[in-house]
Amino acid sequence: MQAISLPAISLDKLESAVYTKKEVTVVVLRLDKIHPLIAGNKWFKLRYYIAEAKRHEKPILTFGGAWSNHILATAALCKQEKIPSIGIIRGEESSILTPTLNRAKELGMELKFISRADYEKKILPAAINSASYFIINEGGYGLLGVKGAATMLDYCIRDNYTAVCCAAGTGTMMAGLVNAALPTQEIIGISVLKNNLQLTEDVKKMLEATERKFRIIHDYHFGGYAKYTTALIGLMNNFFKQHNIPSDFVYTGKLFYAVDELIQKDFFPRGSSILLIHSGGLQGNDSLKKGMLIF
Ligand SMILES: *Cc1c(COP(=O)(O)O)cnc(C)c1O
Repeated sequence: MQAISLPAISLDKLESAVYTKKEVTVVVLRLDKIHPLIAGNKWFKLRYYIAEAKRHEKPILTFGGAWSNHILATAALCKQEKIPSIGIIRGEESSILTPTLNRAKELGMELKFISRADYEKKILPAAINSASYFIINEGGYGLLGVKGAATMLDYCIRDNYTAVCCAAGTGTMMAGLVNAALPTQEIIGISVLKNNLQLTEDVKKMLEATERKFRIIHDYHFGGYAKYTTALIGLMNNFFKQHNIPSDFVYTGKLFYAVDELIQKDFFPRGSSILLIHSGGLQGNDSLKKGMLIF
């Protein structure tokens, strides 16, 4: 399997007449380029969990849905590191696996399906003794994930930016960015879940300095987690045409849409220099009908 390539990370400046007129610069940190399966924030969030699991010499057990970037990234990393892995998948097994789960299985992850009710309560199948495993939360949520995400900013010159914007699911990546950012920088998270008002508290719990300010915007979920509209798909296609940067409809498409609109609405003061985190997730686009996206 292809190795992780950190030198592939680039900083792509977006050329746009609107951004010039608004006197803002926008740069995308392309973490999506490090690996086709272990892309973006998932590698950063997993790196210290994997190291811990190796130290404990335990197989890994983790959780996710049928299209989970986290499940696939964990499966691929475990294959690379020769660690056995089990994925606890939300929902009953269907006769046809999603491409995501198929790939995870091909990479050697053992998949166990549990009902949505059991999944909510994290009730494991009776045959699994949780003490024998190193357990990683769904999405890499938790302090080791935060510590890993903080290292994302090592791939840019921090001082160059007045604001850092990212998509937020569990908020783990965002907490890492807040911890790693300069006190003068504003960290803005675009929540991809509908009305997840608990997110502020979730992020706060993971901060080193609890007084650090950050901002979460709840207006760009497009109907909820993994929901989309034609406007969102339209922006993703235009963004690719204009900047040659692919995005995913669950996370980064919503981030790019939000920031573009916020710039147009003068949310950012003139002279702002905005860093957008491309956190990966492109494999999830396989769940869309063919032809919807031009990339
Ligand atoms: C998982 C994921 C996120 C969300 O990260 P959190 O730390 O859960 O907020 C953002 N972008 C992509 C592409 C992801 O796969």
